[in-house]
Amino acid sequence: MKPFASRRIGTAHVVALSRHGGLSAPPYDTLNVAQYVGDNPENVAGNIDLVRRELDANDIAVMNAEHGTRVLVVTVGGDVAPADGLMTQTPGLALLALAADCVPVALVDTHAQRIAVFHAGWKGVLANIAHSTVEQMVAHGSHSQHITAVIGPSICHMCYEVSEERTALFEATLPEAIHDSRHLNLVAGVTHSLEEYGVTVDVIPGCTLENDDLFSYRRNPTTGRGGIAVVMSKVDP
Ligand SMILES: [Zn+2]
Repeated sequence: MKPFASRRIGTAHVVALSRHGGLSAPPYDTLNVAQYVGDNPENVAGNIDLVRRELDANDIAVMNAEHGTRVLVVTVGGDVAPADGLMTQTPGLALLALAADCVPVALVDTHAQRIAVFHAGWKGVLANIAHSTVEQMVAHGSHSQHITAVIGPSICHMCYEVSEERTALFEATLPEAIHDSRHLNLVAGVTHSLEEYGVTVDVIPGCTLENDDLFSYRRNPTTGRGGIAVVMSKVDP
Protein backbone atom coordinates (compact mmCIF):
# COMPACT_ATOMS: atom_id res chain seq x y z
CA MET A 1 0.00 0.00 0.00
CA LYS A 2 1.01 3.61 -0.45
CA PRO A 3 0.24 5.86 2.55
CA PHE A 4 -1.09 9.36 1.86
CA ALA A 5 0.93 10.56 4.87
CA SER A 6 2.43 9.06 8.01
CA ARG A 7 3.56 10.19 11.43
CA ARG A 8 5.75 8.66 14.14
CA ILE A 9 4.76 9.71 17.66
CA GLY A 10 6.91 8.05 20.29
CA THR A 11 6.49 4.30 19.75
CA ALA A 12 3.29 4.83 17.77
CA HIS A 13 2.99 4.86 13.98
CA VAL A 14 0.07 6.60 12.26
CA VAL A 15 -0.80 6.26 8.57
CA ALA A 16 -3.43 8.20 6.63
CA LEU A 17 -4.55 5.95 3.77
CA SER A 18 -4.51 6.93 0.13
CA ARG A 19 -6.53 4.97 -2.42
CA HIS A 20 -3.39 3.51 -3.98
CA GLY A 21 -1.50 0.24 -3.66
CA GLY A 22 -4.47 -2.01 -2.94
CA LEU A 23 -6.23 -4.92 -4.62
CA SER A 24 -9.72 -3.63 -5.45
CA ALA A 25 -11.09 -3.03 -8.95
CA PRO A 26 -13.02 0.11 -10.00
CA PRO A 27 -15.02 1.84 -8.60
CA TYR A 28 -13.25 0.75 -5.40
CA ASP A 29 -9.75 1.14 -6.79
CA THR A 30 -7.66 0.24 -5.18
CA LEU A 31 -7.14 0.36 -1.39
CA ASN A 32 -10.76 0.17 -0.24
CA VAL A 33 -10.92 -0.97 3.40
CA ALA A 34 -14.72 -0.98 3.85
CA GLN A 35 -16.69 -4.24 3.67
CA TYR A 36 -20.08 -2.47 3.43
CA VAL A 37 -19.73 -0.65 0.09
CA GLY A 38 -20.27 -3.57 -2.33
CA ASP A 39 -16.63 -4.45 -3.01
CA ASN A 40 -15.24 -8.00 -3.28
CA PRO A 41 -14.86 -9.14 0.37
CA GLU A 42 -11.58 -10.98 -0.28
CA ASN A 43 -10.03 -7.89 -1.83
CA VAL A 44 -11.16 -5.76 1.12
CA ALA A 45 -9.71 -8.26 3.58
CA GLY A 46 -6.49 -8.23 1.58
CA ASN A 47 -6.39 -4.44 1.65
CA ILE A 48 -6.91 -4.36 5.41
CA ASP A 49 -4.06 -6.84 5.75
CA LEU A 50 -1.84 -4.56 3.64
CA VAL A 51 -2.54 -1.78 6.15
CA ARG A 52 -1.71 -4.14 9.02
CA ARG A 53 1.59 -5.07 7.38
CA GLU A 54 2.44 -1.43 6.63
CA LEU A 55 2.14 -0.78 10.38
CA ASP A 56 4.02 -3.98 11.28
CA ALA A 57 1.06 -4.88 13.51
CA ASN A 58 0.07 -8.33 14.81
CA ASP A 59 -3.59 -7.68 14.24
CA ILE A 60 -5.94 -4.85 13.24
CA ALA A 61 -9.36 -3.84 14.58
CA VAL A 62 -11.65 -2.16 12.06
CA MET A 63 -14.26 0.36 13.13
CA ASN A 64 -17.91 0.01 12.15
CA ALA A 65 -19.18 3.58 12.34
CA GLU A 66 -22.72 4.29 13.53
CA HIS A 67 -22.55 8.10 13.70
CA GLY A 68 -22.93 8.19 17.47
CA THR A 69 -20.51 8.68 20.36
CA ARG A 70 -19.82 5.14 21.55
CA VAL A 71 -16.11 4.44 22.14
CA LEU A 72 -15.18 0.77 22.56
CA VAL A 73 -12.08 -0.65 24.20
CA VAL A 74 -10.65 -3.43 22.04
CA THR A 75 -8.06 -6.11 22.76
CA VAL A 76 -8.29 -8.20 19.58
CA GLY A 77 -8.50 -7.47 15.88
CA GLY A 78 -11.23 -8.01 13.33
CA ASP A 79 -14.58 -6.38 12.80
CA VAL A 80 -15.82 -4.79 16.00
CA ALA A 81 -19.32 -3.91 17.16
CA PRO A 82 -20.76 -0.61 15.87
CA ALA A 83 -18.98 2.37 17.43
CA ASP A 84 -17.42 5.63 16.32
CA GLY A 85 -14.34 5.39 18.49
CA LEU A 86 -11.94 2.58 19.36
CA MET A 87 -9.27 2.53 22.06
CA THR A 88 -6.61 -0.04 22.92
CA GLN A 89 -3.78 -0.56 25.36
CA THR A 90 -2.53 -3.63 23.48
CA PRO A 91 0.84 -3.13 21.78
CA GLY A 92 0.88 -4.52 18.25
CA LEU A 93 -2.90 -4.18 17.81
CA ALA A 94 -3.63 -1.60 15.11
CA LEU A 95 -6.85 0.45 15.01
CA LEU A 96 -8.45 1.56 11.75
CA ALA A 97 -11.12 4.27 11.41
CA LEU A 98 -12.78 4.48 8.00
CA ALA A 99 -13.75 7.64 6.19
CA ALA A 100 -14.40 9.09 2.73
CA ASP A 101 -15.13 12.81 3.41
CA CYS A 102 -15.78 12.38 7.16
CA VAL A 103 -12.94 13.26 9.56
CA PRO A 104 -10.72 10.32 10.65
CA VAL A 105 -8.61 10.92 13.76
CA ALA A 106 -5.87 8.92 15.53
CA LEU A 107 -4.87 9.70 19.13
CA VAL A 108 -1.66 8.70 20.88
CA ASP A 109 -0.86 9.04 24.57
CA THR A 110 2.84 9.88 24.46
CA HIS A 111 3.33 8.91 28.13
CA ALA A 112 1.45 5.61 28.22
CA GLN A 113 0.77 2.62 25.99
CA ARG A 114 -2.64 3.80 24.86
CA ILE A 115 -4.00 4.76 21.43
CA ALA A 116 -7.41 5.49 19.96
CA VAL A 117 -9.15 6.38 16.72
CA PHE A 118 -12.46 8.00 15.95
CA HIS A 119 -14.53 8.95 12.93
CA ALA A 120 -16.55 12.16 12.83
CA GLY A 121 -19.12 13.15 10.25
CA TRP A 122 -21.26 16.18 10.97
CA LYS A 123 -23.35 14.20 13.44
CA GLY A 124 -20.28 13.00 15.31
CA VAL A 125 -18.76 16.47 15.39
CA LEU A 126 -22.03 17.85 16.77
CA ALA A 127 -22.41 15.01 19.30
CA ASN A 128 -18.74 15.49 20.21
CA ILE A 129 -17.25 12.08 19.56
CA ALA A 130 -13.88 13.84 20.07
CA HIS A 131 -14.70 14.44 23.74
CA SER A 132 -16.05 10.91 24.17
CA THR A 133 -12.82 9.42 22.82
CA VAL A 134 -10.53 11.59 24.94
CA GLU A 135 -12.68 10.84 28.00
CA GLN A 136 -12.33 7.10 27.37
CA MET A 137 -8.53 7.50 27.32
CA VAL A 138 -8.62 9.64 30.47
CA ALA A 139 -10.86 7.09 32.21
CA HIS A 140 -8.11 4.52 31.61
CA GLY A 141 -5.39 6.74 33.05
CA SER A 142 -4.30 9.18 30.34
CA HIS A 143 -3.68 12.85 30.97
CA SER A 144 -5.24 14.72 28.08
CA GLN A 145 -2.19 17.03 27.90
CA HIS A 146 -0.13 13.96 26.98
CA ILE A 147 -2.33 13.09 24.00
CA THR A 148 -1.43 13.98 20.43
CA ALA A 149 -4.18 13.74 17.80
CA VAL A 150 -3.51 13.31 14.08
CA ILE A 151 -6.43 14.41 11.90
CA GLY A 152 -6.46 12.74 8.49
CA PRO A 153 -7.73 14.20 5.20
CA SER A 154 -11.46 14.95 4.93
CA ILE A 155 -13.78 17.17 2.90
CA CYS A 156 -12.69 20.79 3.29
CA HIS A 157 -14.89 23.68 4.36
CA MET A 158 -14.98 25.11 0.82
CA CYS A 159 -16.37 21.86 -0.61
CA TYR A 160 -18.66 20.88 2.26
CA GLU A 161 -21.85 22.72 1.35
CA VAL A 162 -24.88 21.96 3.53
CA SER A 163 -28.26 23.47 4.30
CA GLU A 164 -28.65 26.51 6.52
CA GLU A 165 -30.70 24.31 8.84
CA ARG A 166 -27.67 22.10 9.35
CA THR A 167 -25.16 24.87 10.08
CA ALA A 168 -27.71 26.34 12.51
CA LEU A 169 -27.50 23.16 14.57
CA PHE A 170 -23.91 24.10 15.48
CA GLU A 171 -24.57 27.70 16.56
CA ALA A 172 -25.26 26.94 20.20
CA THR A 173 -22.79 24.14 20.90
CA LEU A 174 -19.88 24.32 18.46
CA PRO A 175 -19.84 27.53 16.36
CA GLU A 176 -16.16 26.84 15.54
CA ALA A 177 -17.41 24.26 13.02
CA ILE A 178 -19.36 26.87 11.04
CA HIS A 179 -17.49 28.44 8.12
CA ASP A 180 -20.51 30.38 6.85
CA SER A 181 -24.27 29.79 6.73
CA ARG A 182 -23.92 27.14 4.02
CA HIS A 183 -20.54 25.54 4.81
CA LEU A 184 -19.27 23.51 7.73
CA ASN A 185 -15.61 23.19 8.70
CA LEU A 186 -15.57 19.81 10.42
CA VAL A 187 -11.80 19.87 10.98
CA ALA A 188 -12.06 23.21 12.79
CA GLY A 189 -14.84 21.80 14.96
CA VAL A 190 -12.89 18.65 15.85
CA THR A 191 -9.71 20.65 16.45
CA HIS A 192 -11.54 22.99 18.83
CA SER A 193 -13.07 20.07 20.73
CA LEU A 194 -9.67 18.40 21.15
CA GLU A 195 -7.82 21.59 22.09
CA GLU A 196 -10.42 22.32 24.76
CA TYR A 197 -9.01 19.25 26.54
CA GLY A 198 -5.40 20.30 26.02
CA VAL A 199 -4.80 17.71 23.30
CA THR A 200 -2.07 18.58 20.77
CA VAL A 201 -3.52 18.54 17.25
CA ASP A 202 -1.65 17.75 14.02
CA VAL A 203 -3.75 18.18 10.87
CA ILE A 204 -2.66 16.32 7.72
CA PRO A 205 -3.65 18.65 4.89
CA GLY A 206 -5.76 17.36 2.01
CA CYS A 207 -9.36 17.57 0.81
CA THR A 208 -10.91 14.19 -0.03
CA LEU A 209 -13.26 15.70 -2.63
CA GLU A 210 -10.56 17.68 -4.44
CA ASN A 211 -7.76 15.12 -4.31
CA ASP A 212 -8.18 12.05 -6.51
CA ASP A 213 -5.58 10.21 -4.41
CA LEU A 214 -8.31 9.94 -1.74
CA PHE A 215 -11.76 8.33 -1.68
CA SER A 216 -14.66 10.80 -1.64
CA TYR A 217 -18.29 9.83 -1.20
CA ARG A 218 -19.47 13.23 -2.41
CA ARG A 219 -17.40 12.95 -5.60
CA ASN A 220 -18.34 9.30 -6.26
CA PRO A 221 -21.38 7.95 -4.39
CA THR A 222 -20.24 4.39 -5.18
CA THR A 223 -16.66 4.26 -3.99
CA GLY A 224 -14.31 2.86 -1.39
CA ARG A 225 -13.32 4.12 2.02
CA GLY A 226 -9.94 5.18 3.28
CA GLY A 227 -9.23 6.54 6.72
CA ILE A 228 -6.52 6.53 9.35
CA ALA A 229 -4.75 3.74 11.21
CA VAL A 230 -2.46 3.67 14.23
CA VAL A 231 -0.46 1.12 16.21
CA MET A 232 1.90 1.06 19.18
CA SER A 233 5.02 -0.92 18.54
CA LYS A 234 5.02 -4.53 19.68
CA VAL A 235 8.13 -4.16 21.86
CA ASP A 236 9.75 -1.25 23.62
CA PRO A 237 12.39 0.26 21.33
ZN1 LIG B 1 -12.20 20.84 -0.76
